[in-house]
Amino acid sequence: MIIRIKVIFLIVLGVSLIFSHSHKQIKIFDIDEVLLKILNNNRVHIDHSYLDSDNNLIFDASENDELILKSLEIDYKVLIEDLSAHYKSRLTSNYTREFGVGSMGGYYTFEEIVQNLDDLHTQYPDLVSEKFSIGQTVEGNEIWLIRVGKIINYATNPLFPSIQEPKVLYTGLHHAREPMSYMNLFYFINWLCENYQIDDDATKILNSRDLYFVPAVNPDGLIYNEQTDPLGGGFHRKNMRPVCNPGYSYYTQTFDYYNPGVDLNRNYSYQWGLDDEGSSSDECGWTYRGLNSFSEPETDAVRGLVESTDFKMAFNYHSYGNLLLHPFGYSYENQVPIDDLNFFKEIGSKMVKYNNYTLGAGPDILYPVNGEACDWMYGEHQIFAYTPEVGSYEDGFWPATERIVPLAEENLHPNKILAMYSGSVLEPVLSSTDGPFKQGLTYPLYLKIKNLGLSEFNYFNFLDFGGSVGNVLLSSSEVTIDSELIGMEFDVDARDEIDLGFVGSFTVPSNVEDGQIIEISALIDFNGEFNEYFFHNNSSMSIRAGNITDGISDDFEEESGWYVEGDALEGIWIRDIPTQIQVNGVNYMPSDDHTENGEFCFITGSEDFNGDRYNDVDGGQTILYSPLYDFSSHSKALVSYWKYYTNNLGDNPDSDFWRVQVTNDNWSTVYTIEQTQNSNIDWQLYELTIDQSSIGFSDQMQFRFIAEDLYGGSFVEAGIDDFSISLFNESVNLGDINQDQVVNVSDIILIVNYIVGSLVPDNNQFLLSDLNSDNELNIIDVILLVNFILS
Ligand SMILES: [Zn+2]
Repeated sequence: MIIRIKVIFLIVLGVSLIFSHSHKQIKIFDIDEVLLKILNNNRVHIDHSYLDSDNNLIFDASENDELILKSLEIDYKVLIEDLSAHYKSRLTSNYTREFGVGSMGGYYTFEEIVQNLDDLHTQYPDLVSEKFSIGQTVEGNEIWLIRVGKIINYATNPLFPSIQEPKVLYTGLHHAREPMSYMNLFYFINWLCENYQIDDDATKILNSRDLYFVPAVNPDGLIYNEQTDPLGGGFHRKNMRPVCNPGYSYYTQTFDYYNPGVDLNRNYSYQWGLDDEGSSSDECGWTYRGLNSFSEPETDAVRGLVESTDFKMAFNYHSYGNLLLHPFGYSYENQVPIDDLNFFKEIGSKMVKYNNYTLGAGPDILYPVNGEACDWMYGEHQIFAYTPEVGSYEDGFWPATERIVPLAEENLHPNKILAMYSGSVLEPVLSSTDGPFKQGLTYPLYLKIKNLGLSEFNYFNFLDFGGSVGNVLLSSSEVTIDSELIGMEFDVDARDEIDLGFVGSFTVPSNVEDGQIIEISALIDFNGEFNEYFFHNNSSMSIRAGNITDGISDDFEEESGWYVEGDALEGIWIRDIPTQIQVNGVNYMPSDDHTENGEFCFITGSEDFNGDRYNDVDGGQTILYSPLYDFSSHSKALVSYWKYYTNNLGDNPDSDFWRVQVTNDNWSTVYTIEQTQNSNIDWQLYELTIDQSSIGFSDQMQFRFIAEDLYGGSFVEAGIDDFSISLFNESVNLGDINQDQVVNVSDIILIVNYIVGSLVPDNNQFLLSDLNSDNELNIIDVILLVNFILS
C-alpha cells in the first residue's frame, strides 16, 4: 500500500518536471556525415529525423539537445517552439468514423486498449482469443497478447495432411509516445474480422494463419503520458524503470532534468551495447539501453513469447518516418546473408507497394541502432522481422486525429502481406522453347511452381490454363494440358520451387499476324472449395507469333550511330539522362529513362541553356536519325519504341506535331508511321508492323523522329527509349489447309468439304480455311482461295 502511494507521488513529481521541458522541432543546416558523427558523439538524440531536399536535418529535440547544439555552435533554427502543444492543437476527442477511436485525442488509453481486446473477443469469439498476459511491467501492468485466426486443427483434417498454421507476430508501443503503433493493429484486427467470408484475403488469412498481437509492449510509459498529457501529445519514450534521478543531467550540468526509463528497443540481446552510437549508456538518455540485455521485464516478456512460439515473420511497429526497416540495424556493413537479404527486400517491396514507405536497413537510411527487437528476432531466431515507422515527418509522434484512420489504412496492405508470406504463397511459372513461334505449329509448355512464402506447401493441385491473342481468347483446343497433371500431388518447400517439366502444349493460331503477342496463363485452382485456404498467383507467359528471324534493339545506354539534324534553335535531341522538369507544378517530362536498370535515352535537351531550365524545342524542327538497317531479306518488321511527347503547355498548346518516319532510299520516299499532336507525359509504348508490300524493304532502311516548335510559345519536349525492330519472314500459309507447303486444288477440295459438312475441320484447319478471317467458312473463302491459286 505504502509503495503504491510512493509511486503516485513520483508520477505527480514527474508531471511538473516534464512540463518544464518542452520539445522543439529543430532544423540543422547542411548536414553531412561529419556533422552527423559530431551530433552522435555528443549524444544529440536524432532518433526520428527527416532530411529535407536541401539536405537540412529536421528532428524533434529536447532542451538538452538544443543546449548541446548551442555549446557546439552548430547552425540551427527552431521550426516549432513547443511540439507537445503543436500535437495537442491537432488532436480532438470528438472525431468519429466507423473505426472507433479513443479518448486521448483519438488514441486509446491503456485502459481502452484492454477494453478493446475484451470487446474483440466478445464480438468475434470464433476468430479472436481471450487476452492473456505474457508478463508484467516494471510497474506491474500486464503485457497483453491476443491470437487471431479461425480455430481449425488442420492436423486432424485429412484434406490438409501437413499444413500447420504459420505464426506471425505483430507488436506495438515499444516506445510510449508512438500510439499509431497500436491504433494501426486494432484497425487491422477489426478489418480482418469484419471482412471474414466477405473479402478473399481476410478469409484466407483468418483460415490459414495464426496471428499474435501484442499491441502495447510498454504500458507503463503510455500510462505516464496519459497522466502528463491526458488529451494526447505526451513525450515519454522509454519504460518507467526508476533511473535518471530527478535533479541531475550529465549533459547540461543542470539539476532539474528527469527522463526515467530504459529504451526497450535498445534492450534486446543481439549486439546489445555494441557502441554508444546505436544506443546510450546514460540513464537520462532517450536511447538508454539498460544495465544489461533483457534487464527489463517488458523485453523479457517478448523474449519468452518468441522463444516458445515458432514465428515466421514479425512487425514491430513504431512511428514515424514513412519507413520500413529490416535487419541488420547495428552496423553499416550489413551481415544478413544474401538470400535472406533478398527475401527482406523482395517481400518488403511488396509491402510498401501502395504506401511507398522507404525500404531499407536502418544504417542505409539514416543511422545504426543496437539492441533492437528486429535484429534480435532475426539474428537469434531467424524470424523475418521488420520495423514499420508509421507516418510522415508532418505526422510526427501524435498524428492529427483525422490522420489515425488513413495511417492505419495505409498499413493494411503490409499487414496482409506479412500474414500471407509467413505461410506458403504459390506462383506457377510457365515457359516454352526459345521460339520463334510460327503460326499453325504446336509448342511445348513447361511449368514450375514457386513457393514464395516461408512455410512448406503440401497438397495436390489443380491447374487451369488460359490464353489470349490481343483481346481474343484462345480456345481450349489451342492450349492443351496433359490431363495426368490434374490431381497430381506435390510438395514445395518454403522459398523453393518444383519443376513439373512438360505439362502440355499450345498451338499458335494460323491466322494471327506476325508480331502479335500471345498470352498463356496458368492458374492454380484448388477446385473451388479449398480456395479460401491458399494464397496463389495467376501467372502468364507471353510470346510473339511469327517467324522472327532477326532483330535490332537499342536502349541508348551507349553510343550507337544515331545522329541529329534540323533547324531548331533549342531543345536539340541529345542522348542524355533525363531530369524531371515542371511548369507550374505540372510535370512535362519523366524523371527517369525507360530502360530497366538504365539511365540514358534520347531527349530534346534537358540541360540548362543560358540558365534557362525550360530548354524545350524552339524555333524549328529537331530530327533524330537512326543508323541504316538492312531489311532486304525480310518480309515484315515490327517496330516498337517507348516515347513521351508534351506540347500541351504554354501559349500555343496542341499545335505542333510529333512525327516518326521511315525511308528505304535515303529520304527520296518518306513514309510517316506515326503523327500526333497528343501529349503523353509518361513513357508510352508505340508499336506497329510495316511490311514489304506497303514499304519496299531495302538494305538502306532508316528511321527518324521529329519534334518541332513551329508556332512558338508552347513547351515541346520529347523522348524516345528502347527502340527495337523484330524482323519476320513470311510463314503464314493461309489456304494451305493440309499443310503440305503448297496451296493447290487439294486445299480447295478440303474447304468445300468443310462447307458442305462432309468433313469437320479441327481448329487449325478452320483457321487456315477462313481466308477473310470472318470466323465463317463459306463460298467467299473458296473464291479467295481460287483467286490466290490463279494469281
Ligand atoms: Zn519508436
